[in-house]
Amino acid sequence: MIIVMASRAKDDIARVVAKIKELGYQAHLIEGVERTVIGAVGDERTKATLLEAMESMHGVESVMPILKPYKLASREMKPEYTVIKVNGVQIGGGAFCVMAGPCSVESREQIIESAHVVKSGGGQMLRGGAYKPRTSPYSFQGMEEEGLKLLKEAREATGLPVVTEVMTPEQVKIVESYADMLQVGARNMQNFGLLKAVGKARKPVFLKRGMMSTISELLMSAEYIMSEGNREVILCERGIRTFETETRNTCDIAAVPVLKKLTHLPVFLDPSHATGHWDLVEPIARAAVAAGADGLMIEVHPRPVEALSDGGQSLKPERFKNLMDNLKPLVELMGKRI
Ligand code: PEP
Ligand code: MN
Repeated sequence: MIIVMASRAKDDIARVVAKIKELGYQAHLIEGVERTVIGAVGDERTKATLLEAMESMHGVESVMPILKPYKLASREMKPEYTVIKVNGVQIGGGAFCVMAGPCSVESREQIIESAHVVKSGGGQMLRGGAYKPRTSPYSFQGMEEEGLKLLKEAREATGLPVVTEVMTPEQVKIVESYADMLQVGARNMQNFGLLKAVGKARKPVFLKRGMMSTISELLMSAEYIMSEGNREVILCERGIRTFETETRNTCDIAAVPVLKKLTHLPVFLDPSHATGHWDLVEPIARAAVAAGADGLMIEVHPRPVEALSDGGQSLKPERFKNLMDNLKPLVELMGKRI
């Protein structure tokens, strides 16, 4: 249920929050520019009428059910788009953000060089995996904590905030201590223990769509994170599995406007994993901008032929720079700034 407050008085809000908790629901306060709403989140079947009766409480304007299965992530709960700030970088709210870097952190030289390429090309954040979710246990698994330390060095060298993947609940603490943003990968989108753990973390979460997940399931995964208290979630379309084999995945470009309609959370697209081929990255990046995405995640490597993972879809430095230059006017045409 959404309880829309007519009053912004602290004691009215406190009474409503106390009543919600007394009925056995979680209370989530959302103070928008125009109004304050309080979400009562829990099983609505049991005490819906008691929640509805709260309309008679002092300071309450109306009580409305949230019809979608996801509550905190829905635009019904929060009509204003969420804006997230990561060490001075704005995500959402008209800012266009490009997170770029190699698939994996491979060495000090490689990640520092990549960070400079991203920075000089005009990217806002550095990506790079230290814990890698590889299909084969015999493939490179990532540099783990050593990789996290190198990411921190790369941030210090360039000022770019860092996003990196966390694969298990046990890893959250260590990854959080180095990274500015926690990535939950496609393969872990429904790892509910991990979602709960990053929901308790103090860093924003970059949540990638599972390769066999619906948009609604992606939003339910965001709901898991948000219901643990972390409201800073960024959603990312990265392609889904279909019968098509020309591309690594099938990019669901429509997911961008659909998500913008259904949720207030920022929406990104990853054209690298969505296509699997470096030469398809730019056209799909352009399509994402045109579809209304708030940003992109792109794989860039100083020497893609030497990459330990995903070299075939990684852009060379000059191609990244070109892509950024070409995107700029399109981003501005869409009313955003980069
Ligand atoms: C990645 O970003 O490196 C990655 C593994 O992506 P995904 O989880 O989308 O496959
Ligand atoms: Mn990759």
